[in-house]
Order: sequence, then structure tokens, then C-alpha cells
Amino acid sequence: MGNPVQETGICLEYEMVDVDIDPQAAEMYFSARYAPGGYAWIIPLGSDSANVGVGVRATYLSGQRLPQILDRFIAEHPLVREKLAGGEAVAVMRGAVPAGGSPPAIMKDNLLLAGDAAGQVMATSGGGIPLAIVGGRIAGEAAAGYLRGKERLEDYPSRINRAFGVELARSVQIRKMVDLAMKSDRLMNSLFSALSPSQMKSVMRAQIPEIFLSRAWAGEKQRRQN
Ligand SMILES: Cc1cc2nc3c(=O)[nH]c(=O)nc-3n(C[C@H](O)[C@H](O)[C@H](O)COP(=O)(O)OP(=O)(O)OC[C@H]3O[C@@H](n4cnc5c(N)ncnc54)[C@H](O)[C@@H]3O)c2cc1C
Repeated sequence: MGNPVQETGICLEYEMVDVDIDPQAAEMYFSARYAPGGYAWIIPLGSDSANVGVGVRATYLSGQRLPQILDRFIAEHPLVREKLAGGEAVAVMRGAVPAGGSPPAIMKDNLLLAGDAAGQVMATSGGGIPLAIVGGRIAGEAAAGYLRGKERLEDYPSRINRAFGVELARSVQIRKMVDLAMKSDRLMNSLFSALSPSQMKSVMRAQIPEIFLSRAWAGEKQRRQN
């Protein structure tokens, strides 16, 4: 099925109980020290429990190990350590997440790829559950349509493209733009302070705000509008 997806995030997450968190807020922390090339998160599961994790990229690690990075985030991050100080990790999740978008082929002969196997993960956030659900559903419908003689399996990639191809490709573009800034907290702080909360939301959803638009993107946008 073509080349493997080149860029991969590696994630480690603890399910923690007895933590002092805001149950209404999903928190994301960007930092070269606490989450090199990615971000750390606190995602509430209830009033005093949360998934606490870190997703980083191997090229940013410089010999550090992932447990060391997550444990440092929990014990030392100035905005986090008090929230998590009394907490206990009751489960551990880990895995790799593709961050390079779709590989060149997601179907061959009678084989269809969906979800992580097809690179269907928003590269801006590492979130793959929504796309895996949509991609898996489309793959199931395509397979059923093919068996009923109503659909060609060859149409599967274009159905995926129509569903979220542009967003997936843009998430990779945005990730590449932010990659350079990720090497320095000063640059990341400047970038974030230039974005309003709604622009930040757009970035995470792979909608590129005007201030990010290079002439190439502006040209593409113009073409799409015409
Ligand atoms: C620590 C961590 C935290 C994450 N947090 C989030 C999050 O908060 N939000 C989000 O959107 N995404 C998150 N992701 C990414 C998300 O989990 C994946 O993108 C998503 O689960 C992909 O779905 P999938 O169905 O493609 O693959 P999976 O969910 O990995 O499902 C594949 C399944 O296939 C099974 N399997 C593998 N090999 C075989 C085999 N040979 N035979 C039979 N079965 C097999 C596996 O056991 C597994 O059950 C996270 C990832 C990690 C690693």
C-alpha cells in the first residue's frame, strides 16, 4: 500500500484518580521541556479523575524516554503539579499515532484501510477517534455496496476524500508550520498570543486562520471560492 506514513507521534497516558482538576476543561500544554514536539494533556473523566498524558515525536526526544517526560510533567510542571500531587495512576495506556496524514494508497485489490492504518488522525491534535469512526463507517458501507454489486471498491478513496480529505491534509500542513516553533517555548508563546481563542479552535480543527495563510494557501482558497 505504498510508503509507510513517515511521521508518528508516541503517546503515554495515565488514568489518574484523586486529582484536583476542573472537570469542565480539557487542558493542553505545549512545551519543549514537558512535551517535546507535541503536547501534554489533562482530560477530565469525572470530578476528580482524568486521563493525563503526553504525546511527543521521536525526532524531538534527544534520548529522553517517554515515562520520564510524563512523570516530569506530573511532578514538576508549575501549573500542573499541585493539581495532580495527591493523584494515583490506576491504568496506563500507550501507543503510536500517525501524524503524517494519509499514505499514498488506502485501498488495493479487496483490502480497504481505515482509522490509524490509513493515517486518519488529525495531525494538529493526534485525535483519531472521530476520523476512525467516520472512515470505518465509509469502509463498511463501501464493502457492503461492493458485495451487493452497487459500488466499486475503487471509489472508496474518493469517498474518504470527500468526507475529510481536505481537513486531514490541512492538519498536516498546519503541523508542519508549527513544527519549527515547537522547538522553542518563546516562539510557541508568540504564536499562541497572536491567535484569538476562536482562531486557536480553528487551527485544532484544521481550518487555517487568515494570519497563517501564505500566498499559496490564499491562492488555493481563492480557487476554491471561484
Ligand atoms: C495513549 C493514547 C491516547 C489517545 N487519546 C486520544 C483521544 O483522546 N482522542 C482521540 O480522538 N484519539 C486519541 N488517540 C488516538 C486514537 O486512539 C486512535 O487514533 C484511534 O483509536 C484509531 O482507531 P482504530 O480503530 O484505527 O485503531 P485502534 O483503536 O487501535 O483499533 C485497532 C484494533 O485492532 C486490534 N488488532 C490489532 N491487530 C489485530 C489483529 N492482527 N487481529 C485482530 N485484531 C487486531 C487492536 O487490538 C485494536 O483493538 C490516542 C492514542 C493513544 C495511543
